[in-house]
Amino acid sequence: MLKKYKLNFAHLYGDLMNTYGDWGNILALKYYASKIGVDINSELISLGDEFNSNKYDFVLFGGGQDYEETIVAKDLPNKAKALIKYIENNGPLLAVCGGFQLLGHYMVMADGTKVNGISAMDHYTENLHFKGLIKNKEKRLIGNITIKNPVTGEEYHGFENHQGRTFLGKNEIPLGQVLEGFGNNGEDISEGVIYKNVFGSYFHGPILTRNGNLAKRILTTALNKKYPKEDWESKLKSIPTESF
Ligand code: GLN
Repeated sequence: MLKKYKLNFAHLYGDLMNTYGDWGNILALKYYASKIGVDINSELISLGDEFNSNKYDFVLFGGGQDYEETIVAKDLPNKAKALIKYIENNGPLLAVCGGFQLLGHYMVMADGTKVNGISAMDHYTENLHFKGLIKNKEKRLIGNITIKNPVTGEEYHGFENHQGRTFLGKNEIPLGQVLEGFGNNGEDISEGVIYKNVFGSYFHGPILTRNGNLAKRILTTALNKKYPKEDWESKLKSIPTESF
């Protein structure tokens, strides 16, 4: 009899942090999972909800604008302990833009207000006036972006739109180096972050539909953690990598 595999996803603040349809990332993972006989159950975890660190096999924390981030930042401390436990226990997580910013120490909004993150990771986000960065002439960092991961050699393509300038910290490496576009801060050619099994990026919308290679990498990470006896990498290799 066919063995049934199942992953539980949490879509963190998916009703508030979903700029450009970050939800599509869950659809992309569901698509690949369906091809290899894995079921996905996805739950919205939002304001006032408990985040149970033992329940989930993958977490999506999408992007939002400054206003939504201030609302989420007030609720996030209630979930911080559980989220940090999940991350430190090698839980797979994809954080986009605002979600990426709030997992760090702080972010400074366009109007100069400092919003505290949960310091689950060591990066911080300054605003466009930081160190006179506005002299770059680019107030917001907007446009198509291509990056390359120097370790895997994989290239990822996407679209960025942010004013925050993020600087990585201890034990964090970039998701990739910028080949075209701005990246984390427009200064040091880093884009996104990898820390344990957390992947962060400024790529908006369904980054995983456009980058099937990254979708497969994240799905493999989640499946290896829950079902370590199966060869998930080979199973996923045997199906075509889509780029929509
Ligand atoms: N506060 C963010 C900024 O830096 C919002 C980014 C986003 O999620 N689009 O602009």
